[in-house]
Amino acid sequence: MKRRHLLGGLAAAAAVSACARTETDCEPGAAAAGESFDWSLVTSWPPGFPGLGAGVDNLVKRVRAASDGRLNIKVFAAGELVPAFEVFDSVSRGTVEMGHGAAYYHRGKLDAAQFFTAIPFGMNLNELNAWLYYGGGLDLWRELYEPFNLVPFPTGNTGVQMGGWFNREINSVDDLKGLKMRIPGLGGEVLRRAGGTPVNLPGSEIFTSLSTGAIDATEWVGPYNDVSFGLHKAARYYYYPGWQEPAPALETIIHKEAWDSLPADLQAIVETTCQAITTDMVAEYTYGNTMSLQQLKNDPNVEIRRFPDDVLSRLKEISEEVVTELADSDPKVKKIYDSFSAFKAIAEENQRISEKAFLDTRSS
Ligand code: CA
Repeated sequence: MKRRHLLGGLAAAAAVSACARTETDCEPGAAAAGESFDWSLVTSWPPGFPGLGAGVDNLVKRVRAASDGRLNIKVFAAGELVPAFEVFDSVSRGTVEMGHGAAYYHRGKLDAAQFFTAIPFGMNLNELNAWLYYGGGLDLWRELYEPFNLVPFPTGNTGVQMGGWFNREINSVDDLKGLKMRIPGLGGEVLRRAGGTPVNLPGSEIFTSLSTGAIDATEWVGPYNDVSFGLHKAARYYYYPGWQEPAPALETIIHKEAWDSLPADLQAIVETTCQAITTDMVAEYTYGNTMSLQQLKNDPNVEIRRFPDDVLSRLKEISEEVVTELADSDPKVKKIYDSFSAFKAIAEENQRISEKAFLDTRSS
């Protein structure tokens, strides 16, 4: 059985021998029936990371099983082959065939991509999936990544996050002033305009910074991941909702040549599995968050609180300002913003009389 290695990086060494036999072995689109592929995948997640990292392991396991071993993908956690934030560039260059991370990590380089992960006060999980798969969102995403030789696939979602852990109470907008908080991306910019000091720290430094008082607050994900980081031992107040990340979608990116080299059945397996991982990850997070929330509710050192209404309205006002400015700064962002906002505006009406109304009724 022939095995193909298309691109560089670790795969390149093996490719020398695979390609040496015949020139056509390494040409895109020349896959023969029954041919196998060995790919490498780099991620933005620490090794053994529950939820996001588990989603990637699950992805490659399912692809291998569904393809009867014809598509084997080796996973490299953040830092093993490339640093967390270099996933996009290494797949774009073709150092590896595949990557998994989040589109909002490309802020500054590709601002429009943030709409495909999460923006403050943006769409919830149902709305985002509807927009991506049926409302033209995924087409816009593919168009945006085309110049980088990348094909993106939504793969995983944490669902709505928590507002974060705070070492002081937030009773009014004034309490945000001078607040030093780990909150990356657009959410961080919103906090800055509200008078706070946003900082960006990798996951591995959050616990220490919060427990030593180097920061006053942090957002991370939700009960499931936050408890596994021990954040409940470093701060008392756990605020909701996660206005900054209403339903962050994760991304799989595949180098265009590698994607084109796959026969149609393997392409279908990859595409379908990526979509299945979103369903699976949402189930894992919903289960994990549910169980961890019970633990936190019973912890005498933790208080779970909703942000006051006036704080949320102020944050929402600033978020709209920040996102509109971003859209006006670049026609590429504007095009995606327009599609995103138009759908969000009408999707909310539907969510209000369905999911929200149902939950309100059930719990009343
Ligand atoms: Ca977060």
